[in-house]
Amino acid sequence: MPAFASLDLSFSQISGYVRELVDEYYAGGAKRGVHFKGTDKPWTKGATPNSKYTRVDPKTGKATQTAIYDSNGDVIGHVDFKNHGKGATSGHAHMFSEPGNPASGHGKGKPHIPNSDLPSDWLKLPSGIEPQTPIGN
Ligand SMILES: [Zn+2]
Repeated sequence: MPAFASLDLSFSQISGYVRELVDEYYAGGAKRGVHFKGTDKPWTKGATPNSKYTRVDPKTGKATQTAIYDSNGDVIGHVDFKNHGKGATSGHAHMFSEPGNPASGHGKGKPHIPNSDLPSDWLKLPSGIEPQTPIGN
């Protein structure tokens, strides 16, 4: 369980936290960078450690979301390639205070972390795959 789980962070502190999380992510194991894609909903637990999984809409062939996994294979964030409105442009992320539990980062009162605060690696899509909505829109 990461240290931020119990903290009530302001937006700027969350941005700082994201950077720490990113450092932790990049300090990880040999399988770093494995990037899967598919049309199924992303797993919450039991994924390849430190991997990413991009969900592709079977109709449009475009990316709707990328799930980011920690060294235990638990999901720690979702990058959404859709626009929710209210400042949540395509490429924003939800970070999960409880790894493996997306509900801990989605919904009322949970921040949308802008794409500018994310590592570019999290915004990369598998070869030939476009975002559902252009990033930043
Ligand atoms: Zn979202």
